[in-house]
Amino acid sequence: MDNTRSRLIAGNWKMHGSIAFAENFSTEVVKLASEFKFNNFELLLCPSAPYLKPVRDILAGSSILIGGQDCHTDRNGAYTGEVSVEMLVDVGCKYVITGHSERREQHGESNSLVRKKTAAAQTGGLIPILCVGEKLEDRERGVAVETILRQLRECLPDRSSGGNIVVAYEPVWAIGSGKIPKISEIADVHIAIRNALHDLVSDPCELRILYGGSVKPDNAMDILSVSNVDGALVGGASLKTEEFWSIVKACWNE
Ligand code: PEP
Repeated sequence: MDNTRSRLIAGNWKMHGSIAFAENFSTEVVKLASEFKFNNFELLLCPSAPYLKPVRDILAGSSILIGGQDCHTDRNGAYTGEVSVEMLVDVGCKYVITGHSERREQHGESNSLVRKKTAAAQTGGLIPILCVGEKLEDRERGVAVETILRQLRECLPDRSSGGNIVVAYEPVWAIGSGKIPKISEIADVHIAIRNALHDLVSDPCELRILYGGSVKPDNAMDILSVSNVDGALVGGASLKTEEFWSIVKACWNE
């Protein structure tokens, strides 16, 4: 991992949890984090929207951040069920996930919509974590990198820079499956993204690139030690304090 970029471990709870879970988890993580030096390191929890406030209240005073799992393109309006960037900022979020493959697949989000959401997040003062990643058939056809770079080019807003966006490489077939690419494949994708950023942003070496997809305590150290992997977006393992904390420690010790 490159030492100049700060590291980020983000937990995506998806549509899991309850108030009791959110409160217990946050309380435990605050306790664990009290012995931890947040030196060039960020820790982020992305609960479902109804649990942002209870989690925020418990994290208050700690260095742990909260983020949304999605946002709308507009600031407000007649959009039943949606959450705006303004609302996420209001509740205390610093980050928001955009373009997650579950949004792309289950809600038909196109690259063009993902770009608009990502730009709206930047305009509204959030740092989007823009997810890109290939499907299994792309990898099997040998077009994984090409697919990822197309998503990157089509979803990255024009004024992006290291300070206002994070990219997460998440192979769709690795999410929730317990499978991960070979470490050399993760390295190849991360270097390809880094190289592509040279044509897309003015500070390509400042922009953080996370890996996401079945990160677990037993593979975290190997993944996090890959060059250009600046942290992880964690789904399933972010719902168990012990597993999540062991990933945090792997990032910390790396
Ligand atoms: C995710 O959904 O962003 C994710 C990384 O999930 P998991 O860790 O469960 O594969």
